Amino acid sequence: MTRVFQVGAGSGGMPVLDLLALDRRIDHVTLVEPDVYQSHNVDRHWFPPSAVGRPKVELAREWLAERRPDLVVDVIPGDLLDTQLQDRFDAAIAHADLGVCAVDNEPAKYHFDALMRRHGKPWTLGEVLSGGIGGFVHWFRPGGACYGCVASFLKRGVEPEPETPPPDYSQPQAAIREARIPASKSAVVAIASWHACLTQALIDNPKGFDPGFTTVLVSLQKIAGIFPDMFRVHRWSIVRSPECLLCRPPDHDIAAEDLDGALHDALERLAHE
Ligand SMILES: [Zn+2]
Repeated sequence: MTRVFQVGAGSGGMPVLDLLALDRRIDHVTLVEPDVYQSHNVDRHWFPPSAVGRPKVELAREWLAERRPDLVVDVIPGDLLDTQLQDRFDAAIAHADLGVCAVDNEPAKYHFDALMRRHGKPWTLGEVLSGGIGGFVHWFRPGGACYGCVASFLKRGVEPEPETPPPDYSQPQAAIREARIPASKSAVVAIASWHACLTQALIDNPKGFDPGFTTVLVSLQKIAGIFPDMFRVHRWSIVRSPECLLCRPPDHDIAAEDLDGALHDALERLAHE
């Protein structure tokens, strides 16, 4: 059975959670989400207007209880970056098989990545582009490219800078922005469905999972100068960057004897070539 640690029960996180919760291989979910359901959420969310004012984690818990009464659901109503909650996150992740990241801000993605790497757990990430014109799905494994490696490959900044020019989607590797322009519910759910499919494929084969990519970008609209077609898929296999300051193994001091031994071995090999 599979235990999932998910952060985000917003318009993107809730459909992922809904789809995954119907997968009976999953028997335990820990859900982290700080927000209260608001009136502007109603157009793109799973919950009705009568739910406005209630914490999203509680609404999600009730949603899951109605559909999967056997599913164990732990909720943590707080922010992933809250220093007071890190012990609870560590405890939950230590017992999880994989992570599902459905947050909409860069600091939380970087922190999620750091937590997963610390515990050696694989995870998936879904991102809807501004205006719902498309989206990304990514997966990460211990020892592979981290979110920093992927963000660097995709030429994303660590922090969104409001003064920078708009992203150039004709260059899919160019910087992207979060979905600041609201996306339609259909666009959000489309990317969430890809995110759930990817996560279920990871559950199918947790040890040897290799879908042939790290990151997929799919266009959901045809936009002149941005996406030449609707439903065009770009995919990249991204390897861990030796330069990445986030996932680079800690430098250790190499003993002088080891260096001497390595030099001796190298000279020996040269002498016999
Ligand atoms: Zn890295």
